[in-house]
Amino acid sequence: MEPLDLIVVNARVLTMDPDRRVLAPGYVGVHKGRIAMLGEGSPPSLPAGVRVVDAAGGLCHPGLIDTHAHVAWGLVRCAVPEQLSEEEIFRLFDERMLGRVRDEDEHLGTLLACAEMAMNGTTCFADTGSALHHLAPTAEAVAAVGIRGMISTLNGDTVVQVPALSLPVDSCLARIEEGLQRYPLGDELAWACAGLLGMEGASDALVRDAKALADGAGVPLNLHKSFSPDEVAACRARLGGRDPLEGFDDLGVLDRNITLVHLNRCSPREIDLLTAAGSSVCHCPAASMMYAMGGSLEGHVPRLLAAGVPVALGTDSTHWGNAWDLTRAIYLAATVHKEGTRTRPAIDAELALEMATIHGARAVGREHDLGSLEVGKRADLVLHGTGRPEAHPALDPIANLVFSAQSKTVDTVLVEGNEVVRGGRPTRIDLDALLARADRGARDLLQLLDYRPPRRWAAARRPSRTE
Ligand SMILES: [Zn+2]
Repeated sequence: MEPLDLIVVNARVLTMDPDRRVLAPGYVGVHKGRIAMLGEGSPPSLPAGVRVVDAAGGLCHPGLIDTHAHVAWGLVRCAVPEQLSEEEIFRLFDERMLGRVRDEDEHLGTLLACAEMAMNGTTCFADTGSALHHLAPTAEAVAAVGIRGMISTLNGDTVVQVPALSLPVDSCLARIEEGLQRYPLGDELAWACAGLLGMEGASDALVRDAKALADGAGVPLNLHKSFSPDEVAACRARLGGRDPLEGFDDLGVLDRNITLVHLNRCSPREIDLLTAAGSSVCHCPAASMMYAMGGSLEGHVPRLLAAGVPVALGTDSTHWGNAWDLTRAIYLAATVHKEGTRTRPAIDAELALEMATIHGARAVGREHDLGSLEVGKRADLVLHGTGRPEAHPALDPIANLVFSAQSKTVDTVLVEGNEVVRGGRPTRIDLDALLARADRGARDLLQLLDYRPPRRWAAARRPSRTE
């Protein structure tokens, strides 16, 4: 009899393994944080003392991997109205936030973000950079909630949008190196990557040297790229008319160990480069839509996937998406590209789930131990309840999950075999106390920043009764 700590039984298990097996009903057994057994039907006889979790026919899938989440900005969620342009928001950050945000703000914001992600079925995230000073406030919050986070400070040396963000190349590299040394990839929940702002905010020297640091540490270089048409135009002008990723190819940084976030524009030549290099892309549909970037109208995301490029999903931040709920990105990925390309399926429900799991694992450099339910992999999984109308009738439970219920049915979440969410509530933190602290912390922070969000339907904009 195999040793077991916990077993999920009577579940509809979406393994996301190479054969995409669906075990219905199925079971998943966990020992020492790893998946020790899984199979169809009922499990073999169980050792005494094992904790049995009866899924009652609910879905069980690998923990979702959000490959772009600026977690440290949790306290300023929805503080800036969507009427502002991207440039105006950058100015707001430049003028008000830099130099004023404290460690405790970043810690509390990250707690809120991680609790939200856990409750929505996300067990791992990647932060391209939101911590302004150092990683400890973020790393400690990640561990407190109990999910995984690949984290970075926000680094750039040519940030024209927010000049005060720019640091000399050597300072950026020193910050990255310090993070990599302090939080190496291993058994801890938080580990560091090399994160750059990108978006023309990093010189060629910084991109090249940060990539070398990432390679040395065995973690990805993670940076924004080709978010806006203006950024792409500026990059093309700098490269004498060539595509942005041709510039990266010149630098020798395009390989499996880089994740390009957004890529709202991507030429056929760039698709070929990515396909040959095996690089990962993180698509953030909500961020593109929120800022009218048109990334869902170009048709390149389905083409990247068809070419074999691992395209993962991200939620982005507090005002570039506004919710750390990857099931919303899954829904958008499985719908907006049908609209954008006027073809069906473009991206179907199965492919959208692959983006949020196995492609996500690849994008954080963890395809060997995360992203699917297979014996030997880390036991990060999500169980959905069946008590919501959106999950019924269960004629096609996967369609219910992607198009109907999304995260509303998340009941239990395991990370490394530990229940971090049970009955829809986080187990390691006092959620009610956290929410009260976050509200207080946000009020304090906005006061410190001398910023008040404008009222909705301000008098000047209010339509008359006859309109
Ligand atoms: Zn971002």
